Amino acid sequence: MTKNILAVLLLGLLLNSCKSDDTDDSLTPINKVVNRQATGSSANDLLSDDTFTSIAIELVFVEGFEPTQTTIDNFVSFITARTFKPDGINIEKRVIPSPGQTSYTIEEIADIERKERTLYNAGKQIAIWALFLDGEADKNEGNQVVLGSAYWNTSFVIYEKTIHELSDSPFEPKRSVLETTVITHEFAHILGLTDLGSPMQTAHEDEENPKHCDVASCLMYWESEITTGPFKKSEIPVLDDQCLADLRANGGK
Ligand SMILES: [Zn+2]
Ligand SMILES: [Zn+2]
Repeated sequence: MTKNILAVLLLGLLLNSCKSDDTDDSLTPINKVVNRQATGSSANDLLSDDTFTSIAIELVFVEGFEPTQTTIDNFVSFITARTFKPDGINIEKRVIPSPGQTSYTIEEIADIERKERTLYNAGKQIAIWALFLDGEADKNEGNQVVLGSAYWNTSFVIYEKTIHELSDSPFEPKRSVLETTVITHEFAHILGLTDLGSPMQTAHEDEENPKHCDVASCLMYWESEITTGPFKKSEIPVLDDQCLADLRANGGK
């Protein structure tokens, strides 16, 4: 499988899977469908404070696969630096039992979310679902290893077991460096990069890896998400000027 196909497979897989029975019949109905839209379609809602003034992040991990506190702090700093949310970024961290698989398809990951997710958009707060799994992506093939995937407008998964295998041993990056790289990369897809809901202000999409930036040092380069060998980065990549311009043009900082 080429990188190109893999990159396409990682995004927008679940666009047609919203079901009409996804609305609860409780006293205050929760409209879950609004959190099951195409990746990037809530970019402006997340970047600006026009509709939502705060972000709630439901950070759920399988026991033993909790991200480091440094990573969580870096993630909040990243969001704070890019978005207008005067009422803050609130993390709600929770452990779940292992779903018991060694590898997961995106559809299986969406099923875990359907079962476990409790936070949805409400009032002026937009909700994000971040899942840290004890298994690997079913799309791993040969030496191509997927580290994370954004699959709906407010949902992403981190293959934390894979991250453990690639970090914190001699000659490997620190775990928080690898985790922060993947988490901020996936969240930036949800913010609409690259040309995924935050329109490009200059042409910088990687033709061979759609919805990624063509600047090799940028956070949105495809190698922040797929490794083809030992993960070599010792520093967390940041967004280049072109990606930053796209976010600002769509209501971000
Ligand atoms: Zn990506
Ligand atoms: Zn870029």
